Amino acid sequence: MTATHAPDINTDIVIIGAGPVGLFAVFQCGMLKMNCHVVDSLEIIGGQCAALYPEKPIYDIPAWPHITGQDLIDRLEEQAAPFNPVYHLNQQIVSLEKNEDGYRVGTTKGTFIQCKVVIIAAGAGAFGPNRPPLENLESYEGTSVFYAVKKRDAFAGKHVVIAGGGDSAVDWANSLADIAASVSVVHRRDKFRAAPDSVAKMQKLVEAGKINMAIPTQLHALAGENGQLRQVIVQDDKGAEIALQADVLLPFYGLAASLGPIADWNLDLHKHQIIVDPATNQTSAPGIFAIGDIASYPGKLKLILQGFSEAAMAAHAAYGIVHPDSYLEFTHSTDKGVPGAK
Ligand code: FAD
Repeated sequence: MTATHAPDINTDIVIIGAGPVGLFAVFQCGMLKMNCHVVDSLEIIGGQCAALYPEKPIYDIPAWPHITGQDLIDRLEEQAAPFNPVYHLNQQIVSLEKNEDGYRVGTTKGTFIQCKVVIIAAGAGAFGPNRPPLENLESYEGTSVFYAVKKRDAFAGKHVVIAGGGDSAVDWANSLADIAASVSVVHRRDKFRAAPDSVAKMQKLVEAGKINMAIPTQLHALAGENGQLRQVIVQDDKGAEIALQADVLLPFYGLAASLGPIADWNLDLHKHQIIVDPATNQTSAPGIFAIGDIASYPGKLKLILQGFSEAAMAAHAAYGIVHPDSYLEFTHSTDKGVPGAK
């Protein structure tokens, strides 16, 4: 019997990276009648804004005197939605082959997408969580072990163990203390790196009996069956083991970014960035564009607003490749409108 593979997905454009710039590229391409599939190695969209500073205010987005990282991503998602982008999350693009129809890209989940144009909006590279070195960790990932919180309510009534000493660990401990059956915080020191206000809030919740502190301890082992966690075993600095009741473990040990396979695609690079033609944002390979933090040209600033402009330029330059028989007349959004807009 021969193994069957899912057929390739076909689309106009594959965008590598669902950070703010990749999301705005969906909108720009949609306005020019080009469909997009977006791939990201993280479980959530939003790149650095959502993964590194969701609650921090950004002050230099035009017309928004201040907006948090997560609010900006929510609005970009809403702006892109009329163009029906398809998001492939939790998977990294690992292969890229040129063929007569354009490019075929492949992901770590075995998804293959055939497209006419590739837009690389990969920031500093694929983000992945720093995983704790625990035996059998993979068998609990996605069922009991999560590296990001997508829906807070999913943890209502659960025994939650949170590991880490930074903002994510402390903010989620504070937030989940209200709705979880129990929250235990595991950290190898008795000092936390999180914002002082958040640490003070956590301390109050500890005093009120709503958060259990397991410090200084380190994660040691997981106990459970069929992907369902029952206990997280931690070890204190003298090697004594303590079993914490747990339905869920949230390890927040930060994210690591790596350019990964993109570095092997024979694109001209300059210090871990991809060199582009500043007039179009096309790379040294025809039909492959790079925008946002990953793009390099004289005068490049790693700012979200500059990435937005690059998304517009790349989309206009890509139009001629996706629609070779059609002339692109420049028009404003006020004239064209957006599907579904009043
Ligand atoms: P990113 O946001 O880095 O997103 C890239 C995405 O691509 C990631 O999600 C990554 O997982 C994914 N990816 C990469 N490679 C692959 C692959 N092979 N397969 C699948 N997915 C892949 N900028 C401002 O303009 N104003 C500010 O005030 C500001 N404040 C900041 C504060 C902090 C703390 C930090 C860290 C950054 C700040 N920045 C600010 C910078 C801003 O966040 C970046 O310029 C912006 O996020 C770049 O967007 P991007 O879409 O190019 O890349």
